Amino acid sequence: MAEKNKGGRPSKYGGVDLEQVSKLAKAGWTDQEMADFFEVDISTWHRWKGKHSSFRESLRDWKKEADQRVERSLYESALGYVSYEIVEELTAGNGLTRLRERGETFTPEDWDDAKSFFDNTCAYCGDSNSKLTKDHFVPLSKGGKLEFGNVLPCCQRCNSSKKDRIFADWYPNCSGYSEERLKKIEEYLADCRQLLEEENTFDPSLVVTKKITRKNPPNPNSIRYWLNNRMPDVYKDRQTVDANVNGDLSITSALEMGRARAAKRDKPED
Ligand SMILES: [Zn+2]
Repeated sequence: MAEKNKGGRPSKYGGVDLEQVSKLAKAGWTDQEMADFFEVDISTWHRWKGKHSSFRESLRDWKKEADQRVERSLYESALGYVSYEIVEELTAGNGLTRLRERGETFTPEDWDDAKSFFDNTCAYCGDSNSKLTKDHFVPLSKGGKLEFGNVLPCCQRCNSSKKDRIFADWYPNCSGYSEERLKKIEEYLADCRQLLEEENTFDPSLVVTKKITRKNPPNPNSIRYWLNNRMPDVYKDRQTVDANVNGDLSITSALEMGRARAAKRDKPED
């Protein structure tokens, strides 16, 4: 609906999205804020209210809704209420969690897995009769660690022979060398690397980590505010005394007031 205002410019009323106005009013926006939002002067806004009864009444209802929500929340706050909170957090995928939980770099399970990969034989010479020891594929002295992917089952003889030597230098000259076993070793190390990569891949996902139920106790300020406004006659005295005590009264007069209040309280009811 195109209208003319005093200046002769077409009024924007027709262009105002009532759906939007309704949302803002219900969200507690004031007339001024809404007028600013729709880029009209507050006087224009009020003129619209005067001119269009449907606009005026809708606004009133929508604002009432907002007021009721505040009232409801004040009421709940005065009585105390239960609230619920759901916490969602980004967590790592299983792999990283597993590594973290483990807290160890080479577990007994890792050792069992390694031994069974090599059929409980020495990875280097294939000996199945001697006790298997943990060989650091990259020697400790060369920066290798006791960690998954760097430990191979190894017979005592090979272990003593390899010592601190680098695999590539040592193995081709080892008496137990075989191309088949070399491939198997390479396969094992590659498997380990892949597994570690998978474990270290950060695979974040949002999961609910906490569900909190809170019992919010009655809020004394809300109670006071509610009672003072809903039952001002009953709580008037109280209000005055509190106001005075909070003011600049001397201790003596504050005490007098306290006594007077106590006397009043103790007086039997009519
Ligand atoms: Zn061996």
